[in-house]
Amino acid sequence: MSSLTNDLAGCSSFSRRSFLRTASAAAVSIPILTEAHFARASAMGAAGVPEFSMSGIYLDANENPLGPSENARKAIADIIPNGGRYAPPLYFNVIKLYAEQMGVPGDHVMIYDGSSPPLHYASLAFTSPSRSFVCGNPTYEAGQRAAELAGAKINAVPLAKDYSHDVAAMVKADPNAGLIYICNPNNPTGTVTSKEQIDYAVANKPAGAVLLIDEAYIHLSDATSAIDHVKAGKDVIILRTFSKIYGMAGIRCGFAIGRPDLLKKLEHYGQSPMPITGMIAAQASLMDTDLVPTRKKLIADTRNKTFAWLKANNYSFIPSESNCFMIDVKRPGPQIRGLMAKDDVHIGRSWAAWPTYVRVTVGLPAEMEAFQTSFEKAMDTPATAFNEAPLRHMLRNGIYS
Ligand code: PLP
Repeated sequence: MSSLTNDLAGCSSFSRRSFLRTASAAAVSIPILTEAHFARASAMGAAGVPEFSMSGIYLDANENPLGPSENARKAIADIIPNGGRYAPPLYFNVIKLYAEQMGVPGDHVMIYDGSSPPLHYASLAFTSPSRSFVCGNPTYEAGQRAAELAGAKINAVPLAKDYSHDVAAMVKADPNAGLIYICNPNNPTGTVTSKEQIDYAVANKPAGAVLLIDEAYIHLSDATSAIDHVKAGKDVIILRTFSKIYGMAGIRCGFAIGRPDLLKKLEHYGQSPMPITGMIAAQASLMDTDLVPTRKKLIADTRNKTFAWLKANNYSFIPSESNCFMIDVKRPGPQIRGLMAKDDVHIGRSWAAWPTYVRVTVGLPAEMEAFQTSFEKAMDTPATAFNEAPLRHMLRNGIYS
């Protein structure tokens, strides 16, 4: 292992304080709210300069380049003249429609401007200095960061050999666990934890712990939802977002689904005054029965074509069922990321647990062709050509995730 790889392996995950320090040095200060903020913040560290451009190819934040569906776009356009209204009936209608489609009573559903708010609130509500946060490793970090704010201990349990969550180890991690977070499919690996494993977690979790099942990417995979546990009244909250298959990351809509007494605990931390554009686009998307299967196939086809290319070129990657996947670049991931950024191809970050892996979001077919060209070029660059200085600066300051 090189000394840099050691640095990478040993460094702690991204530190908000150090990011804000760097951000203010660049006269920009943004909070970490969603995946895109994690992506851009870690890119700032790699490049040393904040670039918030919309040009270039962005495969770094698990966004959906297809954007909102045609029906959702039309619904947004049609409602704009009513933008001066709060439109409470729309609020209740969307919740009602979603509850009906999920097969739960209306009081089991809360609407938010994405799934980041309920992820943050649930982590605050169910963890504390005496109730820990349990998660996979690597996984999406937002819940862990909120739990840290609550003063909770973090039990990050390595993924199993097949890259599913090691639920047996997770439920045993701490008898005083407050929240067990399972991301299914997982971000960043795109891998699925089976329904049997989720059932095991529900049956064997410590008393008083709540299971938070983040199903942000479920429509992209064949994973089975854990919604039956909500219907059965278990200590389970499910998170869903319209940011992924529905292509509404910038429009915003998401849901938490759980027992009313569990959802009530989230209210203490805040709610989302919903934009009518987000609600009407969500409603139009939910009524469009072709949307999910069509997009699932489109994204899977592009992903599988990329996998065929990676395989043919002997690159090692983790087979994913989602719109992101990880490649082992066999050197510090940010080096490849930094080189590709020079081609204006922006891939995702690495995780401290796996410093030689980078996460790549599945883009449009043409974007994935540009990815291949740039990735191959970066991988063919001799290691001596890498300038490790910015990376070392980034690692020493904890700017890495
Ligand atoms: N959960 C996971 C696993 C994610 O990857 C993301 C974003 O990428 C979110 C939640 C939050 O998404 P949003 O707030 O856009 O709904």
